[in-house]
Amino acid sequence: MDILIIAEVKDGALSPVSTELFTAARTISADSRVSVVAIGNGVKSAVLSLANLGASVVFLAEPRDLTPQLAVSFIGKAAAESRAAVILMAESDLGADIAPQLASKLGTAAVTGVVALRNDNGQLIITRPVYGGNAMADFTIDTEPQIISIRPKVFAPAASGGNQTAETIELAAESPANIRVIEHVAVQQQGPRIEEAKVVVGGGRGLGGPEGFTQLKQLADLLGGVVGASRPPCDQGWWPETGQIGITGKIISPDLYIAVGISGSSQHVSGVTGSKTIVAINKDAEANIFKAATYGVTGDWKKVVPALTVKIKEL
Ligand code: FAD
Repeated sequence: MDILIIAEVKDGALSPVSTELFTAARTISADSRVSVVAIGNGVKSAVLSLANLGASVVFLAEPRDLTPQLAVSFIGKAAAESRAAVILMAESDLGADIAPQLASKLGTAAVTGVVALRNDNGQLIITRPVYGGNAMADFTIDTEPQIISIRPKVFAPAASGGNQTAETIELAAESPANIRVIEHVAVQQQGPRIEEAKVVVGGGRGLGGPEGFTQLKQLADLLGGVVGASRPPCDQGWWPETGQIGITGKIISPDLYIAVGISGSSQHVSGVTGSKTIVAINKDAEANIFKAATYGVTGDWKKVVPALTVKIKEL
């Protein structure tokens, strides 16, 4: 089963989840030929790392203005050339956007937001959450290439082999005539991206307003983490929508997720089930979030969060 990995590159550096895709490829088959589309800016600088991770061919895709449609065009060319049976990409902003489009372009199917893969005597079994994260379902794809987008942190980063070489092929593609990039607006990023953070403190409607997020930020900073939110605070403008956690926001898998004033709707919980430990702080002992939590504190966040912050400072 030849595999094509889509590796996202920013300023010459591989996105952390891209290295995890190599582990996923090895899970499918230890002796598959692995080709890579390196897409982004500074892709040539990433070739050595990709070769050391096990890529035998690296397709270079460096568009001036990256749009999902252009990415699909690049990857379509690499897919035809590599004749891969499986295409792996991260369930990132780009991956979530392009997986279905690519499946449509190549006349095949995609399974997105995948949390496990297993090779059952040559048949790839693909697992993803369904019904808002309340159940897991196994899928198989009968057409090739099988397109799979994988949630970050599902697989460990692959170890680098060192001193390997890869053939490089430069790709060219035209942006569709009906799409024009007008402006790039860089999102101001302090600390790690929420999808990659080891600690996330999430605030919900129970915070009652934007002020509560200042206290969550203090707590998150102490723990080396970042702040996120359920949907209502983002809708209300209390917290940027780029920090929304859940089925229509970011899917996170930190070591520790602290949910503060969040009821635990299925749409929210499905975005945090990959967390290793979940701590819930809610004044309602019956809140659904306690079902998903490893530890729970029933109480008013205005008392619990400052007390927790003081204790952590003492450590
Ligand atoms: P609420 O449900 O209002 O809960 C607030 C909680 O705060 C309550 O449990 C309350 O007991 C507690 N509380 C109140 N005061 C205090 C206090 N002083 N101390 C401690 N606890 C307190 N939601 C998401 O989060 N992410 C998504 O991606 C998402 N996508 C959606 C997609 C669709 C199609 C739809 C229909 C909905 C989606 N939602 C999403 C919304 C979701 O259904 C819920 O409405 C939302 O998650 C509720 O947010 P919440 O828990 O912050 O608020």
